[in-house]
Amino acid sequence: MKQKLLIGVDIGGTTIKMAFINMNGQIREQWYIPTDTSEKGKQISNDIANSIRDHSLQLNIPYDTFAGIGMGAPGFINMKTGFIYNAVNLGWENYPLKDDLELKSGLPVYIDNDANIAALGEMWKGSGNRSDDLICVTLGTGVGGGIISNGMILHGANGMAGEIGHMTAVPQGGAPCNCGKTGCVETIASATGIVRIATEGLSKYPESLLNQTYDINRSLTSKDVFECASKEDQWAVDVVQFVSLHLGLTIANLANALNPSKIVIGGGVSKAGERLLEPLQEVFNQFALPRVRDKAELVIASLGNDAGIIGAAWLVKENIS
Ligand SMILES: [Zn+2]
Repeated sequence: MKQKLLIGVDIGGTTIKMAFINMNGQIREQWYIPTDTSEKGKQISNDIANSIRDHSLQLNIPYDTFAGIGMGAPGFINMKTGFIYNAVNLGWENYPLKDDLELKSGLPVYIDNDANIAALGEMWKGSGNRSDDLICVTLGTGVGGGIISNGMILHGANGMAGEIGHMTAVPQGGAPCNCGKTGCVETIASATGIVRIATEGLSKYPESLLNQTYDINRSLTSKDVFECASKEDQWAVDVVQFVSLHLGLTIANLANALNPSKIVIGGGVSKAGERLLEPLQEVFNQFALPRVRDKAELVIASLGNDAGIIGAAWLVKENIS
């Protein structure tokens, strides 16, 4: 039998990443198309279907080679029906994405949220190393999470499982979060949160390297914070410790409940590598039960932006086999 191909699609607010991926999880071809959010995003599924046809023609791949489309989308989704309740960035509201894209592409479509497909990608081909029990935390402009337990991604009663970014880290007087609450982990451990904390304290540390960096660039990035910390700048070290304390505590609490073998840290902030992992591991060791700690390996994600398309392709593979 001819090798089938999987199609992975990862929808973001400005671009849609797409790929043809083989059954072993190797990317054969990948490309981007712009996300057309005009008219409540009604062109998006058309654009995806057309782009798949164009690329299959260009690459001379017969259309019946494709086993289906796996897709990660932001927002609140019913994973079984592929119905989007709300995806603010894309303009979708009460939109039957799965049905619509199946109609336009003629292929079966499987959908999950973007954080969950990133976790599945890392589990299948990345640092997760096929672990059946895995927690994935993505530290970007927000904090995303995906939990795999017994080999299954957790969805919970109405699709909200894995919202690690909105676990409360500061019960009183925390910073406001995009979700409407205050003191969420996202307000501390996202790139945005790290920059906010670092910037707020600058006036107290006028001599700090971080303040000098701010004076030159008139802004800070989370990368600046980790770089200054590695040069032993006290304020930067304090910020990294504060972030590690709250994120490490959250992860340890989760691990005590879920007993994972891998905890994968991804997203832009994770590019700090050991500078983040080392203080995080220290806090984790303090709050995780010894047997939980001994089994759980804390690692940096390895697939970068490819995690989403690979995890999306895995959705198809799981559903057809
Ligand atoms: Zn929140």
